[in-house]
Amino acid sequence: MPIYEYSCAKCGNAFEHLHRKLGESAPACPVCASQRVIKQFSTFSAAVAPERGSAAPCGAAAACSPGQCASGECPLSG
Ligand SMILES: [Zn+2]
Repeated sequence: MPIYEYSCAKCGNAFEHLHRKLGESAPACPVCASQRVIKQFSTFSAAVAPERGSAAPCGAAAACSPGQCASGECPLSG
């Protein structure tokens, strides 16, 4: 179940809302009950998103950066 972050356009309150079903409408502000809320991009997914698109998996679980392969067998190490 996705958790979305909202900010209230009226009072500026930021809050999270757990969506229990698909297509659920935006929640009202828990502070001022205004329904003028703005959905924010999730800071959680932004934090875990990979920043380097050039990194490739080398062998097992670890991902190597170009020129920094520990095993020396990564095609990106050269
Ligand atoms: Zn509000």
